[in-house]
Amino acid sequence: MRSNAVDAALRARAAEVIPGGMYGHESVGMLPAEFPQFFARAQGARLWDADGHEYVDLMCAYGPNLLGYADPEIDAAYVDQLARGDTMTGPSPKMVELAEALVRQVAHARWAMFCRNGTDATSMAVRVARAQTGRRTILVARGAYHGSDARFTPVPTGSLPEDRAHVASFVHGDVASLHAAAKAAEGDLAGVLVSPFRHDAFVDQTMPDRAFAQAVREVCDRGGGLLILDEVRAGFRLSRSGSWTSLGVEPDLSAWGKCLANGHALSALLGGEVARDAATRVYATGSFWFSAAPMAAALATLARIRDTDYLERIERAGARLREGLARAAADSGYVLRQTGPVQMPQLLLDDDPDFRRGFAFAEEMIGRGVYVHPWHNNFVCAVLTDGDVDTVAAAASDAFAAVRAREGTLVPHARLAARLAR
Ligand SMILES: *Cc1c(COP(=O)(O)O)cnc(C)c1O
Repeated sequence: MRSNAVDAALRARAAEVIPGGMYGHESVGMLPAEFPQFFARAQGARLWDADGHEYVDLMCAYGPNLLGYADPEIDAAYVDQLARGDTMTGPSPKMVELAEALVRQVAHARWAMFCRNGTDATSMAVRVARAQTGRRTILVARGAYHGSDARFTPVPTGSLPEDRAHVASFVHGDVASLHAAAKAAEGDLAGVLVSPFRHDAFVDQTMPDRAFAQAVREVCDRGGGLLILDEVRAGFRLSRSGSWTSLGVEPDLSAWGKCLANGHALSALLGGEVARDAATRVYATGSFWFSAAPMAAALATLARIRDTDYLERIERAGARLREGLARAAADSGYVLRQTGPVQMPQLLLDDDPDFRRGFAFAEEMIGRGVYVHPWHNNFVCAVLTDGDVDTVAAAASDAFAAVRAREGTLVPHARLAARLAR
């Protein structure tokens, strides 16, 4: 029996001094009971929990880890800047260098503004779109995540219907529903906020086709709104430039975050000429939005994005992982739906409407030293080796066999069932 005494003690203390013991996507009870809550260390593609158990990590901190945890070069850039000056009375020259680097790297970008979290960037994008167009309505895909502010939160507790006024929805990938939403917003369309592919929690992911991406572009052009691409999760994992560049579609604004500084706190709003004037006029700021150390880390990250085969390595590891997991599931008679790009796989089981089998699988994987998520997309980083992938596949083979043996005793997970019923 593996010990989780340190984690359990921390959870008990947290329950006293942190509302609910933990909050947001880290809320207590949304993952299998076996999952550790607290981590002591992360290196490369591996994590160590507070009790010292080691995991091959397929979550990458929910996205920020692109090139490996604690990358020596990127963290050295961060630490070096920290010693010179991080949060100062004004920005450092790094801010201009980084804006220049992003404008060179991302096809549609002509300017950059920096902030701290992805939510900062998506909400700033909405304000810029409204300021630029003088219109109100923002179209978003139903069920899509664009951040935790009152306008976009998936859990509306404490927010008002008014907070979501002038936000209308369509179905991601569905041109007809997009057209219907645009028609209803006619004369008032400020923008369409959309993620590069459908990567919602709890459901299969879907890749957009060229026709959908082009329809979004066309709806914006015809209706006078701005196309806002939410790259916070997918950015730089699908492409070095922009996630819809290969589909021949460029946005007017794009929101970036998560892996932008390979784990350091930085996000950005990038824009084209069409939005420059409004971006000049909105009041956008934060105490830490000009801090230099995360910008130094982002510059080092961008250099690697530009100059190395990091993306091809992620794709190769992702493809090998997909093969290994499919074989492991099939060997025990399960059908594992692996949807979305191989770099960001969603792993859901057939015949598992209440996630009891998926939870049991994730639990068995944790026990075998692999951190895999039962209802959120996973992430592959550039330092996940063939050996790591084979370790994961071998663990999955044993884990599926163990779930098969537990079939008669599996029960739905109470907290998750309550959340899904809402
Ligand atoms: C995580 C995420 C956000 C919000 O970013 P935060 O840094 O958590 O505020 C916005 N959009 C998408 C697509 C995300 O995945």
